[in-house]
Amino acid sequence: MGFLERLFGKKAPEDTGIYFFVRCVHCQRVLHTRLDPQNQLSPRDEGGYEVHKELMDDRCFRRLTLHATFDAQRTILSAFVDGGTLIDRESWEAEKDLPRRS
Ligand SMILES: [Zn+2]
Repeated sequence: MGFLERLFGKKAPEDTGIYFFVRCVHCQRVLHTRLDPQNQLSPRDEGGYEVHKELMDDRCFRRLTLHATFDAQRTILSAFVDGGTLIDRESWEAEKDLPRRS
């Protein structure tokens, strides 16, 4: 039994966040962000939801903007990043701890 289960007598709530892994096009730094589909989405006029979230990497400090759309069930439909590209978790894991260039 885990710590939270002992504390509250039930399982910890599942993490329903959606993770995005991004590479900055300017400096190639990788970063990630988490979206909570229950709390961070805005309704769209045409139905479904959308989100626009600003990100910043820790190398060149340029601003990246994540744009994503979701259907009425908050399932992701599309995503792209202004100033960056979406990458997979494996690429992020492989590069996130590389030493920063000076
Ligand atoms: Zn950058």
